[in-house]
Amino acid sequence: MVREFTHFIGGKHVKGTSGRFGDVYNPTTGEVQARTPFATTAEVRSAVEAAQRVFPEWSSLNPQRRARVMFNFKALVEKNIDELAHMLSAEHGKVLADSRGDVQRGLEVIEFACGIPHLMKGEYTESAGTGIDVYSMRQPLGVVAGITPFNFPAMIPMWMFGVAIAAGNTFICKPSEKDPSVPMRLAELFLEAGAPAGVLNVVNGDKEAVDAILKDPDIKAVSFVGSTAIAEYVFTTGTAHGKRVQAMGGAKNHAIIMPDADLDQVVDDLIGAGYGSAGERCMAISVAVPVTDKLGDELVRRLRPRVESLKVAPSTDPDANYGPLVTKEHREKVKAYIDLGVKEGAELVVDGRDFRLQGYENGFFLGGTLFDKVKPNMKTYQDEIFGPVLQIARAKDFDEAASLPSKHQYGNGVAIFTRDGDAAREFASRVQVGMVGINVPIPVPLAYHTFGGWKRSAFGDVNQHGLEGVRFFTKIKTVTARWPKGGVREGASFVIPTMR
Ligand code: NAD
Repeated sequence: MVREFTHFIGGKHVKGTSGRFGDVYNPTTGEVQARTPFATTAEVRSAVEAAQRVFPEWSSLNPQRRARVMFNFKALVEKNIDELAHMLSAEHGKVLADSRGDVQRGLEVIEFACGIPHLMKGEYTESAGTGIDVYSMRQPLGVVAGITPFNFPAMIPMWMFGVAIAAGNTFICKPSEKDPSVPMRLAELFLEAGAPAGVLNVVNGDKEAVDAILKDPDIKAVSFVGSTAIAEYVFTTGTAHGKRVQAMGGAKNHAIIMPDADLDQVVDDLIGAGYGSAGERCMAISVAVPVTDKLGDELVRRLRPRVESLKVAPSTDPDANYGPLVTKEHREKVKAYIDLGVKEGAELVVDGRDFRLQGYENGFFLGGTLFDKVKPNMKTYQDEIFGPVLQIARAKDFDEAASLPSKHQYGNGVAIFTRDGDAAREFASRVQVGMVGINVPIPVPLAYHTFGGWKRSAFGDVNQHGLEGVRFFTKIKTVTARWPKGGVREGASFVIPTMR
């Protein structure tokens, strides 16, 4: 009997009523292990009402008391991290240590959100005019929502609800239908941490639930992370319905390798950042750009045996480098890109398409794949592949290499490997990409900085977490106050007040 998930509304598990479901696989065996109910518009509405009911109580709690709930939640997640990591790996397929990292990176945003009393503080000007003081305050928006992707089912929900809820909002999370267990469990733990019922709700679903969120007049802001086509749709639909929207999309992250780089370190970094989590990371390195042909030849010579010997195994194998892809459908999509790369004329150095794992023949595994001599006019270069496929696009000099990520439609992450401070500094300043690594392969900013790409990797102007996250989930109010001394009246003024 296949397990059936619920929604989590107003602090209770609620059975789905639509009769529509999505399958949740065990990607290691290929079996369906559970099914996710797809919410109706009415079910989304009941979550909005639960969140609305508790908003006055939660938002008027002093920020230090809200922070205490965040501290309790952090302790509970830490206590349950093994359970969460196993749950995550069982649905996503990433190796256990990486699942722990997924939870940990989310927890770092919770730690940041524990500082909300400080982060919400406004500004104050004494005596801006005679007897006049001006001050500003940040206030929560109300009911807000987050729509999250399959690839970081712990970190990304925590990016969003951590900051939003600490700031006094109440929240509806619509997780990926492929691996919703961790967000559901986080919502249970949040309740256990002392949050009133309804502060954090989870509504499972597909396009119908997303549309209900985007059109509901009582949801004030929507944070989205997922593929670019859906991010753009969420941004245009949500803003057309008067909401504040931030929508992060897909990526194609380049690594520029200068001839003076430490090549042993570069090869380690490319292997980890290109193939970790089966390449299903929006900050995975997917294109390596060696500067000069000579360096390209040497890079391929060193990478080939490393890619051939990658250990692809179930997520519970402590020696596994990466596990299966999330679904069979996604694996077939990645395979089709490898077929296309061959057709387009790129040189297939290592072919992972025929990889089979004994005993797990129905699992969604795919071997590591390496392409050389990939050109910017190829579709496989232009698109995001999102699998264990690294492409090498050779450049003749620094200028050509640096222009590739800048000209690409995506602008999420990029890295440069060099010992030359001048080249690195010039690159970081010039490149048209939102997050830059200098000898750092996956430059995901820490929780107190902010995460966000440029160009078609993000729609909307405000990043995730850090101060930008606090700004996204709050609105500012500025108060100009005059307390005239007794008996002094200035009479009516018909001109705009100015400060003389
Ligand atoms: P996805 O776009 O398929 O799904 C994301 C969310 O949108 C899910 O909750 C899903 O249920 C919902 N959704 C799917 N189809 C929809 C539709 N037609 N209408 C409305 N909603 C819909 O993305 P995914 O496959 O879960 O995640 C992988 C993608 O996310 C990759 O493109 C990856 O680069 C991107 N990603 C980006 C970032 C970032 O911060 N830039 C981070 C992680 C992942």
